[in-house]
Amino acid sequence: MRIVMKFGGTSVASAERIKNVAERVKGSGRGHQVVVVCSAMGDVTDELLALCADASKGMEKPVEERLASVRETHLAALAAAVGDKEVRRKVQGMLNLTLSQLEKLARGSTVLGELTPRSRDAILSCGERLSNPIVMGALIEKGVDAVFLTGGEAGIMTDDRFGDATPLLEVTKFQVSEKLSPLLAEGKTPVVTGYIGATQSGDTTTLGRGGSDFTGTLIASAVDADEVWIWSDVDGLMTADPRLVPSARVLREISYEEAGEMAVFGAKALHPRTLEPVAEKGIPVRFRNTFKPDDPGTVVKRNPKLYSKSVVKGVALVKEVAVITVRGASMVGKPGSAARIFDVMGRSGINVLMISQSVSESNISLVVARSAMEKGANALELALLGDGGYRHILTEGDVSAVAVVGGAMRSTKGVAATAFGAISAKGINIKMIASGSSNQNLSLIVAEKDAKDTVRAIHSAFRLDRLNS
Ligand code: ADP
Ligand code: ASP
Ligand code: MG
Repeated sequence: MRIVMKFGGTSVASAERIKNVAERVKGSGRGHQVVVVCSAMGDVTDELLALCADASKGMEKPVEERLASVRETHLAALAAAVGDKEVRRKVQGMLNLTLSQLEKLARGSTVLGELTPRSRDAILSCGERLSNPIVMGALIEKGVDAVFLTGGEAGIMTDDRFGDATPLLEVTKFQVSEKLSPLLAEGKTPVVTGYIGATQSGDTTTLGRGGSDFTGTLIASAVDADEVWIWSDVDGLMTADPRLVPSARVLREISYEEAGEMAVFGAKALHPRTLEPVAEKGIPVRFRNTFKPDDPGTVVKRNPKLYSKSVVKGVALVKEVAVITVRGASMVGKPGSAARIFDVMGRSGINVLMISQSVSESNISLVVARSAMEKGANALELALLGDGGYRHILTEGDVSAVAVVGGAMRSTKGVAATAFGAISAKGINIKMIASGSSNQNLSLIVAEKDAKDTVRAIHSAFRLDRLNS
């Protein structure tokens, strides 16, 4: 079998865990061809983001402290994860190179007191560029013929939307296959940085937070893998975030569509675009717990057999969102009002997560990431007010979105009634409702303070804590 194994931040958070990764690859990969994709160690990406913020404000001391901490974390992990001197020296050389690039970038930006999106991505990519060579070292020490590649070196080519780059799928598949298939055929195990690609001109890009999952499935599709295994710190894809709902259950098998809806609507366990490259080829994706290698986890695949009959499969919470409402009586019956609003958002580069229009048509509400609220509202004001039809632009920032997901929802009556009943029984007010175009999800906006209770109320109303799958 050809397997792509992706290990998330928690799976490589310490030297012990990196050794555990090597064990998983060696153990589960016996007789298999394996591509390994790893995230940055623990919360290193968060640390690098904080470093970027400090550097762009010219704050020299905190930047130096963070640089020292990143250096120390990785050198200590290397020393503890790789015993063999030769291997350690080889990895040390790779780390030194990346650390010195990171230091130059960070110090340069600090002097200027500014950071371009391109330099920011170069800095953010260092987390994965530091963790993966250590994993490679730990694998070599276990007798695995591992080779390190960055996402760009492996052939992942993207557009230049730094911070949230989109892979050019056809070129990427071709290049990755050309690069990795011969290595696999020679018995080598490529260790590829998650989260990172490169533009046509060779600049490093990142695929958005959590992007290593996406790297894993892109590679799987390119090398025609039989399966993708996403190793994390949970038992699988669950009916809700177990940190929020302790009674959440593991879904044994689930369709690509349902898992995709859960990902798009906030289940942190999965980057939103992860399933695109594998769904079309029907490559199964397994979610497994790095600390429980004997557990089966969750399989996302076509026509799942051990499929739970439950109409609702999961409840997800999207924090940090905001509602922008455009109000104006003469939008009533005026074709093109919504199109204009979308056009403004599109030109401002703002992604609209949900939309809802009241029956009277005098209100159109959009849900966007909270960080984009001000920019979106300003752009709408500039473009629309003064044109008569649009009267007010209102914003509400302290809200969260809750999504109820399930494939059978489109053909089942009463899902909304059950959800609304459970929420109102808790005395929680629903501010906005939208049904996704796939009809496989129902999304609600509630006050941020009510969000957790809303998720729990829905989870228990659909008896997800007793899901038998
Ligand atoms: P990794 O570092 O391995 O990529 P993440 O932190 O990105 O891991 O994702 C795993 C986390 O996602 C879990 O610890 C869990 O708290 C959270 N999570 C949110 N929703 C779900 C869900 N429906 N099923 C499983 N985990 C979920
Ligand atoms: N390290 C990146 C992040 O924290 C990518 C990933 O972990 O998937 O977002
Ligand atoms: Mg993740």
